[in-house]
Amino acid sequence: MKAAIFEKPGLDNLKVDDSAEKPKHTDHDVLVRVNTVGVNPIDHFAVSGARQVKPLPHIPGAEISGIIEKIGDHVEEDNLKEGDKVIIHNKVFDGTCDMCLDGLDMLCRNGGLIGVVTNGGFAEYIAVPDKNVFKIPDDMGWDLAASLPVTTLTPYHALKDASLQVNESLLVFGASGNTGMMAIQFARKMGAKVIAVSKNEQVKDFGADYVINDYEKVVEQVREITQGKMADVVLNSVGVEAWQCSFDSIGVNGRVVTFGALTGADVKINVQLLYLRQVKLIGSTGGTRKQLKDVLSMSNQLKIKVWKRFKLEETKEALQALFAKDRDGRILIDVDRS
Ligand SMILES: [Zn+2]
Repeated sequence: MKAAIFEKPGLDNLKVDDSAEKPKHTDHDVLVRVNTVGVNPIDHFAVSGARQVKPLPHIPGAEISGIIEKIGDHVEEDNLKEGDKVIIHNKVFDGTCDMCLDGLDMLCRNGGLIGVVTNGGFAEYIAVPDKNVFKIPDDMGWDLAASLPVTTLTPYHALKDASLQVNESLLVFGASGNTGMMAIQFARKMGAKVIAVSKNEQVKDFGADYVINDYEKVVEQVREITQGKMADVVLNSVGVEAWQCSFDSIGVNGRVVTFGALTGADVKINVQLLYLRQVKLIGSTGGTRKQLKDVLSMSNQLKIKVWKRFKLEETKEALQALFAKDRDGRILIDVDRS
């Protein structure tokens, strides 16, 4: 089958050809014909060697939507049938460790990510366990479908982890990024007041109540907007560049939550200010299958912005586009039209 595949790490070693075998599905697996895939930093890390992958040669691709081609004989999910439109929860999990038993399958002690510890979806087909397959409504567009398992689930889980409450104020850095725009939409649904840090006024279309376009002015403007209380929750998926600003903008009993560090991961912290204000620092990753169901149930109210789409043959260009300065929305690969 056609796939984007590499034998040795490095973007230049990635090729697209017919050398990969069509995956064999076991009795408990579902074979999915891939339609549209989202392109995320994790895919770049997998190809560049920043994340160790298996097997080799390797097919990357962590955010996958498609159509069920075949169902294993012992598949228990009786709501799945051939021809269904589906998305794939991108976590490998054993279902038996203490994390899995607690419902935290994304933290499985023996797991990992599809597209990293297994072959991914930059290919015509992928076979995955039935428990990873979620049926989506027939009328859902593929662009949104290919944005639910990572881009949408991650900020939803982060806001849940931060226990964002009605009437609280949320400060979002990287607000015009893909996860940022989803965070804004969820925060509004949760009844919070959203302050977005972005140069792009368009974040208002996604529900931001206030937009701050200058990092230098964030602390002062948050003080003004919150009448001195400062933010209850700060979402910083940007990393070190927004760290000090995040920390200076958080109020008493506030929560700073992070799931990304594109601008760098090493930050300084004043522990005294942390405990005196009783601030909680929260690291968040992925999301649970239950939360993916939650996200699916709200999906008809969610908006996604697509910036560029590529063919499977252009996977390398799609991965490079992640770092384009003018990136403004999602990068997708249309596998079925390649
Ligand atoms: Zn587990």
